Amino acid sequence: MVKFKTVRGMRDLLPDEARAMRYVEGVARDLAESYGYEEVITPVVESYELLSAKVGEEIRKRMYAFIDLGRRKVALRPEFTASIARLVVATLRNKPKPLRLFCIGSLYRYDEPQLGRYREFWQSNYELIGSKEPEADMEVLALTDELLRRLRIRGYQFKVGHVGILRGILEQEGIKEVEQNYVMQLLDKKDYVKALEFVKSLGVSERCVEALKGAFEARGDRPLDALKPFKALLKGYDAALLALDNLMDVLNLASESGLKLNVFVEAGFARGLEYYTGMIFEPFVPELNVALGGGGRYDRLIELFGGEPTPAVGVAHGIDRIVLAMRKQGILPMVKERLSVAVVPIDEGLKALAFKVASALREAGARVEVEILGRSVSRALQDADRRGLVYAVLIAPDELRSGEVVLRDMRKREQRTVKLEDLTKEVGLA
Ligand code: AMP
Repeated sequence: MVKFKTVRGMRDLLPDEARAMRYVEGVARDLAESYGYEEVITPVVESYELLSAKVGEEIRKRMYAFIDLGRRKVALRPEFTASIARLVVATLRNKPKPLRLFCIGSLYRYDEPQLGRYREFWQSNYELIGSKEPEADMEVLALTDELLRRLRIRGYQFKVGHVGILRGILEQEGIKEVEQNYVMQLLDKKDYVKALEFVKSLGVSERCVEALKGAFEARGDRPLDALKPFKALLKGYDAALLALDNLMDVLNLASESGLKLNVFVEAGFARGLEYYTGMIFEPFVPELNVALGGGGRYDRLIELFGGEPTPAVGVAHGIDRIVLAMRKQGILPMVKERLSVAVVPIDEGLKALAFKVASALREAGARVEVEILGRSVSRALQDADRRGLVYAVLIAPDELRSGEVVLRDMRKREQRTVKLEDLTKEVGLA
């Protein structure tokens, strides 16, 4: 018989990992509530055409795409935003704006498996639809900051840029969108040299080359200082100048509102997804060289999918990578465990009572495991001890005659008889 393994790049998440993932999920969900984002659940399988339209070449070629039995070309979602844009166009178009939508779930990309890069991974995703104002951009930055803060992650920094700067320059030089996309892909991979060579091969002006070089150098953790000298190089590139001002507006608003964002600004920053039109960002921690999330403004996607022109901004947080960062920082596990209790009936006739006792303890909030292997008391206790349970309740005929059970404190290795009716109080739950 063949021994089955998980498919390459796919993982089983064992209890420790699953608990950590669900913990982050819980915090992300709570955050959505406190910012007024309502949850929607969209399908994992969507039409290939929808998912591939604006996702960018890098992700497009890594999609799990296939023909279904009805001969439709479909794919497993590699990200959430296309689904949300579809939903807004098809179903939510008459809802008053702004719309704040939250979703959480698994995504699929045929990436090369490595630390922090899996073929199935999880995101919590927030979309703010209907505002073109800097306060909307700031909101998604702020909620990302708050998520990382609530999780007690240390030393994170936001890499921030604006797609409109580079696209503005290229657009004004008459460079077509597909070629712009190629430049953005090269920049996403930090291949500045190749990007410049390619742009030169298209016959752009010398001024354009200088502006692009300036953009690649305009970076630093003091946004104003990094961007000010660069502004002079953008003279005459009106759209790029507007983009730069917009980026400054977002960052100023953030700092004036008291949000102490640790920002590293990069005018030449690009992200793989093609639908971005404005501010983009990614949070990083020093312990990992991959981003914990990614976000940005996409003002034309909804229109492209047949809706009214609708500005929007969103962010996705990579739950797997957040857990990885927390593990590296030694802040896992931080999940409050329930009080754990083993219930062991000592003779055959007491099995049913064991379930009743277990129910009462569970109702009071304990995690209860009933002995179901028919083991001797000493074996059952040995196992409870090995697995770190806090109490064992032994149900024995002698004690039961006076309405009592034996309560054993597994850590102190002490036991005493207690009244059955007082059990939840005796373990500290009532
Ligand atoms: P992206 O839209 O590609 O920037 O992805 C947003 C976030 O999702 C990233 O910053 C990661 O945290 C997470 N992510 C993307 N791809 C993967 C992957 N292959 N494995 C794990 N997490 C991923």
